[in-house]
Amino acid sequence: MSDAPFRILPLITDRNRPFWTAGRDGVMRFQRCQSCGYWLHPHGVRCPKCLSKDLVYEAVSGKATVYTFTINEQGWMPVPELPFVYAIVEFPEQADLRYSTVITGCDPHDVTIGMPVRVCFEAHEDDEVWIPLFTPEVAA
Ligand SMILES: [Zn+2]
Repeated sequence: MSDAPFRILPLITDRNRPFWTAGRDGVMRFQRCQSCGYWLHPHGVRCPKCLSKDLVYEAVSGKATVYTFTINEQGWMPVPELPFVYAIVEFPEQADLRYSTVITGCDPHDVTIGMPVRVCFEAHEDDEVWIPLFTPEVAA
């Protein structure tokens, strides 16, 4: 029995499994076109830039910045904590490579646009699903 908090989990398919299981080794991965180098999220069957079907999951650094966010004060469904920050983060690998996520590990009211964050993973379903969450990047 997992002690992970309630989350609405994705339906895992052969196509998206590399994304949702990437947390097993702590590395975030997105599909990348092997023809033109474009990163895709969400996953697809063709590159939207060059229409190649040669898409492979590749690792990103896991570092990102907060592109935009909202602070949810109301629990409309079971959530691990209130309030929480629902955010879109953007990756340095590509300006339009973005992911919708929860910012954790800080006071929700300390989150700002442009804030550096890094991925952390939350395991569910006996390690079959790893939800990428983001936490503030600690200055070195
Ligand atoms: Zn392409």
